[in-house]
Formats: sequence, C-alpha cells, structure tokens
Amino acid sequence: MTFTATPVWVGVDVGGTKVLAGVVDDLGRVVRTARRTTPGRRVDIAHVEDALEAAVLEAAAGAPIAGVGVAAAGFVDVTGQRVMFAPHLPWQGEDVRQRLSDRWGAPVVLDNDANCAAVAESTYGAARGCRSAITVTMGTGIGGGIVMDGRLVRGANGMAGEFGHMQVVPGGRACECGGHGCWEQYSSGNALVRSARELMSEKPSVLEESTGGEPPRLTGPMVSDAAAAGDLVAREAFISVGDWLGVGVANLVAALDPDVVVVGGGVSAAGDRLLGPARDALVRSLVGAAHRGVPPLVPAMLGPEAGLVGAAELARQAQSRR
Ligand SMILES: [Zn+2]
Repeated sequence: MTFTATPVWVGVDVGGTKVLAGVVDDLGRVVRTARRTTPGRRVDIAHVEDALEAAVLEAAAGAPIAGVGVAAAGFVDVTGQRVMFAPHLPWQGEDVRQRLSDRWGAPVVLDNDANCAAVAESTYGAARGCRSAITVTMGTGIGGGIVMDGRLVRGANGMAGEFGHMQVVPGGRACECGGHGCWEQYSSGNALVRSARELMSEKPSVLEESTGGEPPRLTGPMVSDAAAAGDLVAREAFISVGDWLGVGVANLVAALDPDVVVVGGGVSAAGDRLLGPARDALVRSLVGAAHRGVPPLVPAMLGPEAGLVGAAELARQAQSRR
C-alpha cells in the first residue's frame, strides 16, 4: 500500500529573538509548530536562513510543502521579494523569496510581520467577516496593518501601516527613529514601562518592591502583574497608554473609516484595562463621533501565532491566484 501525505501550508515568523514555524490548516488552525533561536543581526545571512529552513522542515514533519509564507520583522519591498532592512536580522535587500524558495523547493510569499498579523485577524480572528479592518500590534513599539475591501493595503513602497512613527506630539519624546513625539513613544510596551517608572517617582507602588528599588529594572510584565493586583501606579500607567492608544486610533479611523480596529501584541493581554481608556479617548478624539459610526476597538484573537497564520494564508492566496 502506498501512502501519499497531503501537502501542507507552512507559515514562519522571523523575529528578533526567535523563528517560529507552523503548519496551518485551511481553517487557520496551527496544527504543529517548531522553533529556533534567531542567530542575530551580525551573522552571515546563511545562518538565519538555515534556522528558517530547519524550523519549517521540522514543522512540516516530512509532509510535502505546498507553499511557505514568511513573516519578517522588517521592511519588505512592495513586490514581496526582498527584506530591505530589519533592525534585528542581517538581510539588506537580498532576494529572500527566491533564496528560501530554492531551499524548500516550494513557492514562498514574504511580507512584514504586522501585515501578516492583520491578514490573520481579518481572515480567521477578531476582524473575521469585516471588509475593512485596521490592526494595531503593541509590542515594544507599534506595528500595524490595513485591510481595505478585503485586501491588504501595502502602499507604493510596501510601507503602509507603519503607524508607530506617526507624530502625535510635535517636539515630544525622542524616538529611536530619529524623530520626536512618535505615537509608539506614548503607547506601546516601552511607553507603559516609561510611564510607570515616571509615576513611581511620585507615588508609592508595589513596583518599588518588584524592581528591588531600581526603577531601570522595571519590565512590562511587572507593570501588568501589579495592575492586575490593584496597584494604582501600574493602573495609571495603563490608563495613560490606553488613552494615547485611543488618540492615535482616532486619527487612523478619521483617515480610513474601517469596520473594526483590532489591538494585538503583548500589551493587549491587559484587555479592558488598556482598551477601556482607549475607547473613551477614541470617542473623545474622533471628529464627528456623535454623527457617525465609531468602529469597535477589540482585542486580537490569534495571539503570538498571528504572524505565521497570516503568512501561511498569504501563501495560500497567492497559490489560488496562479
Ligand atoms: Zn519614531
């Protein structure tokens, strides 16, 4: 008796610290994953590609590969062929799609990780059934993706959805990008920590104890835990970050008028502690809010696997267009 395994679709998320690959079924479920440590930025690109190759093959577990979607934490050109720049990866304009396709002998689709997460949430997650959705991913900074009329908006250069560096405070806090007053300096994991640290110097908090009296040791999870336990400083930090989230989302809604806004990333695990103040600020800041529909602001559903699920979905869609 001969047995032919069904070809599988694999998504792989390449972040600054880890490579996470997964086989994704046609309902968007991750059926098997494999991970590797990202070799780093100052290594030969072959090392990073070795890690990707190994993770994808392990996830596929011997099944033939129908196609691979790669979600990369970096700038991907508009053709989806090259990673132009990634702060934590060594690629700088190489034809990543072709190089990886040669390794697996399968078609490869490449996109920015936040775009992939937006596709995943629109197809299988919190924005399922909506024609237009904005996804805001709050990690250390802010990533974003725009789906309009059922299609991912990539822009003229593949750079659409880089919401984190919209200026919300002229002359405000300095940003790693070289600008000042960028949105992610006020609403992100880093902003949460910064805000809590500033408040700690003014008021008593259990965070004194969690950091051993050394505020530089403060982390996002410490603030989340303290807020859940009722600490007022930690809760105030969430209100600040949530309020700024709503202000930025109001600008996006004014520009794009989506059906829904999805908030994902590590900080969004705080749920209504973050989204409550954000909804208030959205209604307050959105022009004409009383005379129009205000889109719901909802938590993402797919968690840390959103990037790989969306990448696999883009690979599947590319195949069906061929
Ligand atoms: Zn910036």
